[in-house]
Amino acid sequence: MRTFRMGGVHPPENKLTAGCRILDVDLPREVTIAMSQHIGAPAICVVGKGDHVDRGAMVGKASGFVSANVFTPISGTVTGVGKIKNAYGMPVDSVTITATEEDHEKDAERPLWTSALRSSDDIAAMSAKDIVDIIGEAGIVGLGGASFPTRVKLSPPPGKHADILIVNGAECEPYLTNDHALMLEHPDEILAGVRLMMRGAGVDKAIIGIESNKMDAVRLLRGRLEGDKSVSVMELQMKYPQGGEKQLIQAATGREVPSGALPVDVGAIVQNVASAYAVYEAVVFGKPLVDRVVTVTGPSLSGRGNYRVPIGMSMAALIGIAGGIPGDSGKIILGGPMMGRTIVNVDAPTMKGVSGILILPREQSARGDVYPCIRCAGCVLACPMGLEPYRLSLLSAHSHWDSAEGEGIANCIECGCCSYSCPSSRPLLDYIRLGKNTVMAIRKSRSVQK
Ligand code: SF4
Ligand code: SF4
Repeated sequence: MRTFRMGGVHPPENKLTAGCRILDVDLPREVTIAMSQHIGAPAICVVGKGDHVDRGAMVGKASGFVSANVFTPISGTVTGVGKIKNAYGMPVDSVTITATEEDHEKDAERPLWTSALRSSDDIAAMSAKDIVDIIGEAGIVGLGGASFPTRVKLSPPPGKHADILIVNGAECEPYLTNDHALMLEHPDEILAGVRLMMRGAGVDKAIIGIESNKMDAVRLLRGRLEGDKSVSVMELQMKYPQGGEKQLIQAATGREVPSGALPVDVGAIVQNVASAYAVYEAVVFGKPLVDRVVTVTGPSLSGRGNYRVPIGMSMAALIGIAGGIPGDSGKIILGGPMMGRTIVNVDAPTMKGVSGILILPREQSARGDVYPCIRCAGCVLACPMGLEPYRLSLLSAHSHWDSAEGEGIANCIECGCCSYSCPSSRPLLDYIRLGKNTVMAIRKSRSVQK
């Protein structure tokens, strides 16, 4: 069984929602759509207070090559345009849409995106550009968490060419099962989306990588691929962070993405299974990215499960549907426990990149007492990027930014394997993240000055 070569850890899986079918969340009466839900420039608001918008209407337009359109999942009136606090307490531009009873009933009576907008002949006649343009118009971004605009990834810069599409179905983060549920319930749609992305990117080979704890999904997808030699399903060893872009490319192809390089530099494009599903919906039904599957989970949560969530509904409302915040809660994390971050504002809206909401009880939330480094090298052995985390964290703690840059802090993928492995409970990732952000900001200001 394949995996990446260096580092990695084996945290407990805790896939408490494995086997939970996807439940459709009712359309809310109000949504707040953030203009920045992706890597790149924020979208520019194209509606004003008092405007009436229909379900699926664009409310923010991509403002550059690396940017993405944003849409409303409900009909209603624009009741707010301005800054709100996101889940981490940071101000972000947004649009709030409020539905009247009439709007709500109209949306319920007229379900959208249930019949095909384009016939299979129309789709077969499309050019690569046609497909990529539809993906861009629909505002699709990487749904594994990174939120990089899919259109951009499928359009390599001049002089670069990909020969393989790698589709991430690894879902190596503990607790999360949203991709697993999607693969089990929509295998044909995901495969159709994969083939569309292959045509868009001009590649004739794709590998879907899935960890071996999801053999039902491996078997199901393989069964649907009989006779198709261009797409294969690869069973991957369970090891975190198997779904990291560079780790997945190495596991699937043996190719190593050099420091500072992009996957396309080694001929690979990586997309997530949920993005493939969104591409299928956009091309066949003309559906913009207005909802996604989110795992809402936690040991004490009574209604944990995999929910199809209108993007922009409040996280508090979603958690309420899943049973409400348990009394023993210690922290709420967006994403999984390894790469996810603790939120400070539960009233913030869900966004395109939110794959999971994890509520941990107090006794699992507290950090251990921090002790001095015992030079055990556990963090070095665990790092999948070949870095020296104990050293990077010290350089960052002492603001030695030049040295931290020289030691490759920008290559950190923020996987958390170092902190997880440290017997002294040192907050390695916290310092490294601070150092990485500072070094990236310094690099940016250098390039502006040139
Ligand atoms: S968080 Fe960064 S430094 Fe720590 S193990 Fe992951 S890649 Fe290495
Ligand atoms: S794992 Fe912790 S104790 Fe061991 S070398 Fe790294 S920082 Fe030091």
